[in-house]
Amino acid sequence: HAWYSEAQEAARVGHLGLVTDLRAAVADNQLQMWLQPKFSLATGQAIGAEALVRWQHPVRGFVSPAEFVPFAEQTGHITLVTQWMLQQALATLSSWATLYPHLSIAVNVSTRDLQDPGFAVRVKDMVCASGINPKRLRLEITESGLMDDTRRSIALLHALCDIGLPLSIDDFGTGYSSLVQLVDLPFRELKIDGRFVQRALAERKAETIVRISITIGLSLGMGVVAEGVETAEQVAFLRNCGGTIVQGYHLARPMPVEACTAWLQRS
Ligand code: C2E
Ligand code: MG
Ligand code: MG
Repeated sequence: HAWYSEAQEAARVGHLGLVTDLRAAVADNQLQMWLQPKFSLATGQAIGAEALVRWQHPVRGFVSPAEFVPFAEQTGHITLVTQWMLQQALATLSSWATLYPHLSIAVNVSTRDLQDPGFAVRVKDMVCASGINPKRLRLEITESGLMDDTRRSIALLHALCDIGLPLSIDDFGTGYSSLVQLVDLPFRELKIDGRFVQRALAERKAETIVRISITIGLSLGMGVVAEGVETAEQVAFLRNCGGTIVQGYHLARPMPVEACTAWLQRS
C-alpha cells in the first residue's frame, strides 16, 4: 500500500517535464559550464577548477544541479550533459593553453556514464581530437555512483586511467565502502565532502574525520581536496592538517568561464 499525495505527484510530473526539457536544453545551449577554482595551500596558487553545470530554463528560470542531476541520472539523460561538459572543458583548456598551461579542469562523471562500455573510447577520442594533455582533464566520480555495477565500473575506471586522465573520488566518506574503492580503484585525488569541513571546527568527530581523510589520502600518495571551505578559520585549520588543496566560497565561488578567466588573470 502507498498513500497517494497530490504534492508528490505534482513533484513527479514536474521532474518528468524537466527531464524531457533537458534534451532540448543540451541542443539549445541552455546549459552553461561554470568553473570554481581550486587552490594549493602550499603555494597559494590556483591549480585548476571544477566544472559545474548550470541550467537556465526558458520558463522555469535557474534550475540547480541538485534538482535535475539525480533525475537525469535515473533516466540516462545525464550522459548528454557529461558529453556536453567534456566538450566545454576541453574547449576551455584549449583557450587557456598559452596563458594557463598548468591548470586542469575537473568534470563530474555520473553512474550512468560508467555503465556505458563506449564511454572510455569516446572520452579518449575527444581528448585526442582536442590535442589537450590528458593530465589537464580530471574526472570526479561520486562514491554512490560506483555502487550500481561494480565490476563494469572498475574496468571502465581503469580504462580512463590508462588514457592518462587523473581520477578523483568526490564527496569522500558520504557513500558506501569508500575504503574498498580506495584499494581497488586508480584514484589520484580524494575530495573531502564540504559537510565534514564545515562542521570540523565545532565538532570533534567531524574534525577527526577530516584529519583522518587527509592522512589516508596523503599516505596513499593522492592529492587531497577539502571542499566547501567557507571561512578563514577553516583554511587555517586545513593548513594545520597539512598538504591540502582547498575549494569553496571563501576562496572563490563558481562562475562563468569568462569571469573565471578574468579572475585568474587578477589573482
Ligand atoms: P560536487 O561535485 O561535490 O560539487 C561541489 C558543490 O558544492 C557545488 O554545488 C558547488 O557550487 C558547491 N560549493 C562550492 N563551494 C561551496 C561552499 O563553500 N559552501 C557550500 N555550501 N557549497 C559549496 P552545485 O554546483 O550546486 O552542484 C551540486 C552537485 O551536483 C555536485 O556536487 C555534483 O555532484 C553535481 N553536479 C554538478 N555539475 C555536474 C555535472 O556537470 N555533471 C554531473 N554528473 N553532476 C554534476
Ligand atoms: Mg564534484
Ligand atoms: Mg563534492
